[in-house]
Amino acid sequence: MRTPVLSLSNLTVTYDRHPAVHHVNGQIAEGSLTAIAGPNGAGKSTLLKAIIGELRPAEGRIEHGLRRTEIGYLPQAAEINRRFPISVLDTVLLGAWKNTGAFGGVNGKDRADAMHALQAVGLQGFERRSIGSLSAGQFQRVLFARLLVQDAKVILLDEPFTAIDARTTRDLLEIVRNWHGEGRTVVAVLHDFEQVRQHFPETLLIARELIAWGPTTEVMSAANLSRARAMAERWDENAAVCEDAA
Ligand code: ADP
Ligand code: MG
Repeated sequence: MRTPVLSLSNLTVTYDRHPAVHHVNGQIAEGSLTAIAGPNGAGKSTLLKAIIGELRPAEGRIEHGLRRTEIGYLPQAAEINRRFPISVLDTVLLGAWKNTGAFGGVNGKDRADAMHALQAVGLQGFERRSIGSLSAGQFQRVLFARLLVQDAKVILLDEPFTAIDARTTRDLLEIVRNWHGEGRTVVAVLHDFEQVRQHFPETLLIARELIAWGPTTEVMSAANLSRARAMAERWDENAAVCEDAA
């Protein structure tokens, strides 16, 4: 049995009592590389937010022995405000918060780490640019540089490659593979099933309830995928009925 870094027991997360994640059980093994797949509204983002402690379980538990700073988290692009006037370098330095604390200063090593991370994501020379001036792909590279600086044991990525150009996707996937090679645990919400099959050995397939969790080749079967789709269609029907009632 592989050592779990994180376990979910009977995890239910709700919004106004409506469950978005329902009775999920399972474990993420230390050093594993896991994709989270499922239809829109399946609870994928909700699951990640519960893991980082942004949402509290309505029922069940999430267990891990990690401090918050040991979990790296990349939110879905839509949730990030890019109009905040901050430079590329300062954004990357936010990854050093476990060293600096809320009021601490940035030291020379942090700065060197940040410069090194920017180089690793192909953005040397961009330090002083404001994040608002970057393309979507360049901004995603900055957020990966921030994760590199954070140096977390567990890294959670919410749709890291959605609306990102092919070249950036390839470069960032390489960083994900390096993290995996270094023994870090990586979990990524992904839409591209081909990407999941090629690069992610394990998959958690969810449609509010867990459909399957395990080796990708077994989980991403036609039967499981059609079950996930069928469950999503049922929510749409329910939503239509509710609107009629109102
Ligand atoms: P996914 O990431 O798989 O697309 P989410 O986790 O974002 O799904 O959402 C799961 C369900 O919870 C959806 O029905 C969504 O509308 C609902 N939901 C998400 N965020 C909120 C929120 N802040 N308030 C109310 N409902 C929400
Ligand atoms: Mg989502």
